[in-house]
Amino acid sequence: MKAIVLHRTGGVEELKYEGVPTPEPGPGEVLVRVRAAGVNHCDIDLRTGTFGITLAYPHVMGVDAAGEVEAVGSGVTQWKKGDRVAPHFVLSCGICVNCLRGHENICLAFQVLGVTQWGGYGEYLKVGQHHLVKLPDALGFDEAVSSYVPFATAWEALITVGKLQAGEYVLVNAAGSGVGSAGVQIAALAGATVIATAGSDAKLRRAKELGATFGINYENKSVASEVMRLTKGRGVECALDMVGGELLKQAIGALAPGGRLVTVGAHGGEVVPIDFIELFRKHVSIHGCGRSTKAIAAQVLALVADGKLRPIIHKRFPLRDAGKAHTLLASRKVFGRLVLNA
Ligand SMILES: [Zn+2]
Repeated sequence: MKAIVLHRTGGVEELKYEGVPTPEPGPGEVLVRVRAAGVNHCDIDLRTGTFGITLAYPHVMGVDAAGEVEAVGSGVTQWKKGDRVAPHFVLSCGICVNCLRGHENICLAFQVLGVTQWGGYGEYLKVGQHHLVKLPDALGFDEAVSSYVPFATAWEALITVGKLQAGEYVLVNAAGSGVGSAGVQIAALAGATVIATAGSDAKLRRAKELGATFGINYENKSVASEVMRLTKGRGVECALDMVGGELLKQAIGALAPGGRLVTVGAHGGEVVPIDFIELFRKHVSIHGCGRSTKAIAAQVLALVADGKLRPIIHKRFPLRDAGKAHTLLASRKVFGRLVLNA
């Protein structure tokens, strides 16, 4: 098969479009013909070597994908050729105590698609039969791959962990990012009043089209004081951050008494000084998450297929142009997802 193959860390020139052996499904495994793959920030970290793990080369990255079952290994009972599926990027073990409790997203022995095994940057990928989610018939492959990780992550963060309620104020940082634009939509669907932040007024206009009531340009305004002004001193009951750094600090300062902040990423600053006096005086809490369960993924895909959530595709690229997609994503001049088509 053709794939984008990484032989060492480096710049986008290390993303080689070349032929590699097509994976063969073993017992209990499914071979998927990839029709669409997503481009994620972690792909850039894997390529440049800042992800914090040592890859086994040659490596095919790609955390998310959507396609059709091409072949199944022996003992596979759930899937057949032609089924439309998306692999779940958390490859859980199925037998640890967290898996048994239904929390397979925090499996004690999980592997990650596109990181610990070959992922979506190829014409085919293989996963265990329990690591696939069925796609709704009405959902296209590009839409599915654009929806899966952002909406499932934002749902996990806002609804499951952040326990967002109708009538609450919620702050969504980086509303132009995949998780941010998904978070705006989910929070609005849940009946919350959304305050979105972004680094440009154009992104804030898009966020308002998706359901945000207010927008704050963090390049020229203090997020914390602007939130207090907009909420008349109340603050937000819930905040979603995937940036870290100064924006995370601002989000903590924007919390109402008893507020919950959920963090799902920190590319803008991984080490953040926090005044813990502010935390206990205001009874606020900080939660980390970032990997959803398959159940949540299936749920958000159904909402997308129903038209209640809207996937945002910024641009599509042929698989061979993955380097161009990486360059565009790194420029941050993106609203929504970048999709690779093999
Ligand atoms: Zn497990």
